[in-house]
Amino acid sequence: MAEIYDYVIIGSGPSGSVLAHYLTQAGARCLMLEAGKEYAADTFPRNEMHANTQLMWNGGMDASRDASLLFLRGKVLGGGSIINQCLLDRFDDDALDDWAARSGIHDFSTVAMARHYDEVESHLALHTMTRADWNRNAELYVDGFERCGMQWAPLRRGQKDCGLGNDCMVCLGGCPRDSKQSMLVTFLRQARQQGLRVETGFEVGQVIHGARHVTVFGRQNGQSRQVYGRKCILAAGALGTTQLLLNSGLGDRLPALGQQFNCHPQLMNVALFDDFVDAHKGAFQAVKSNDPRFRKQGFKLENVFAGPIAMALLAPGYGLAHQRFMQQYRHMACIEVAVRDATPGAIAIDAQGRLKITKTMHDADWQRANAGLHAVDAIFGVLGAREIMKSPIRIGLHLMGGCVIGDNGRHSVVNPAFEVHDHPNLLIADSAIFPSAPGINPSLSIMALAHRASEVWLGSYQTPATTAPLMAEASL
Ligand SMILES: Cc1cc2nc3c(=O)[nH]c(=O)nc-3n(C[C@H](O)[C@H](O)[C@H](O)COP(=O)(O)OP(=O)(O)OC[C@H]3O[C@@H](n4cnc5c(N)ncnc54)[C@H](O)[C@@H]3O)c2cc1C
Repeated sequence: MAEIYDYVIIGSGPSGSVLAHYLTQAGARCLMLEAGKEYAADTFPRNEMHANTQLMWNGGMDASRDASLLFLRGKVLGGGSIINQCLLDRFDDDALDDWAARSGIHDFSTVAMARHYDEVESHLALHTMTRADWNRNAELYVDGFERCGMQWAPLRRGQKDCGLGNDCMVCLGGCPRDSKQSMLVTFLRQARQQGLRVETGFEVGQVIHGARHVTVFGRQNGQSRQVYGRKCILAAGALGTTQLLLNSGLGDRLPALGQQFNCHPQLMNVALFDDFVDAHKGAFQAVKSNDPRFRKQGFKLENVFAGPIAMALLAPGYGLAHQRFMQQYRHMACIEVAVRDATPGAIAIDAQGRLKITKTMHDADWQRANAGLHAVDAIFGVLGAREIMKSPIRIGLHLMGGCVIGDNGRHSVVNPAFEVHDHPNLLIADSAIFPSAPGINPSLSIMALAHRASEVWLGSYQTPATTAPLMAEASL
């Protein structure tokens, strides 16, 4: 008889890795399956094109059905934490109160989550950006904000001994210094030391739920594989986890499966200045908008930039006009509008089991986006930009929902104990369970939720109000 693990964990991003750490720490035998490959500081691809093709699903070209939105997600050991910017924020009352109202779960609150944030943060090196970290793009951003009477704040980033003067934009293709606090250098490393077994290049196609164990079917290096867990944790991200449940035939039994897909659509705006900006040099992002009016209006302004390939994608056209645009690379400043989406989309599959993502920005989303674009025009205008270019491309980096959490089987997929309704051996605590778009960077909250889920499954979770354990029986 093949080995039955206590937990088979599908996916190695913030959710899978944090869960692997706490479960192995408690003595559970865990197997992690990851579709992507394993890289390290000295083996990450060294140019932007190879990073896109080797570290992302479909080379970073997943699109909505109407091609109005592009979705980026990691396919690599460590998941999105390898290719993300590692900006780590806690959710505020606004985001968590909305979750409590939508899910019917009352201990979604900043007070109830504080313990979980404290715990996961204790494993991460966190750096609040200082003025010394600013490049010219950040200086322009702050200058524009102050002249327009808008509020800004320093960003908090997971990084260790990064040093000043690094061109840290390259670490969006995997950090070559092991400075960025990806899962590879934090939770996953600890979990491996505690006995986690990891198999990479293993793409799971289906899970079959049984009363005593879950069978996990997939392919690795062209071979069919089957593994078993008493419990199976789906930590494949909003798109991956939802696709897996749909491909496992659970769509008929879970009416909310695939619903409430959100992505914080991001709209990049480039301004050209006469002087060099060199936004690709130094800290890639150092400051953020912190204006309560923006939060109310449902958008954020991000101080960002991108490598030459990504910047080239933003400009429409080709030939000489496009070449002239790219020749301005060193003169470009960039501010992105990130929308807290008001209109969720849906995730489905076609007859071959491939993703079909319906997500379009509707009027309410455009009102939010346009308020942000208006603020960007004001900022670049007061700074004396020579030209402002609004990219027609909208990008989704924070992919959330599809298997939302709630106390009601008709409107949600996962119950308050992080189990799929009526399938107690299928567990989910990744970004797929988000009931709505928080409008805030999600990965620290994914880690905090994973910590909370591990306590629930291990039988040690205490609800803040009653101190009664949510699940009496430990699953070990
Ligand atoms: C460019 C970029 C920048 C970002 N910047 C930030 C930021 O600064 N701050 C922030 O908070 N968030 C940021 N994010 C978002 C953040 O990275 C994600 O929200 C987070 O990684 C999601 O975590 P997760 O564990 O839910 O899923 P993921 O990190 O997506 O991990 C899922 C893993 O499951 C694997 N998988 C999927 N399907 C299967 C399958 N069938 N079989 C086996 N394995 C599978 C995937 O390959 C992947 O490795 C950024 C994202 C991108 C793309």
